[in-house]
Amino acid sequence: MLRELFLGFIRAHILFHATEGPVYGTELMEELARHGYRIGPGTPYPILHALEAGGYLRRAAQVVNGRVRKYYRGTPAGRRLLARAQAQLVELAHEVLPADRVMRVRRSTTRRNAS
Ligand SMILES: [Zn+2]
Repeated sequence: MLRELFLGFIRAHILFHATEGPVYGTELMEELARHGYRIGPGTPYPILHALEAGGYLRRAAQVVNGRVRKYYRGTPAGRRLLARAQAQLVELAHEVLPADRVMRVRRSTTRRNAS
């Protein structure tokens, strides 16, 4: 159940980073570990593939140190999906978090939009 619940967060996280710039699987694993998710290589790749199949990400291969690396980047549809997820996240935060924590969410969102 815990995994089911957090998979949605992980998917949203991956979509967010892919709309910020090109990402690849290993990098996402490290990024998610930084946020406290303990995931193996079996997690990000199926998510990347599903988002690509849905038209939310575009894949581009690039050779790095003699090896082909697959980069994924958000499409316009991916940006629209993220915008909907962000609205639902704010809604969820207001419902489930204590008021003082929601204030912190609001401040960090404002700061990000300002830069
Ligand atoms: Zn992140």
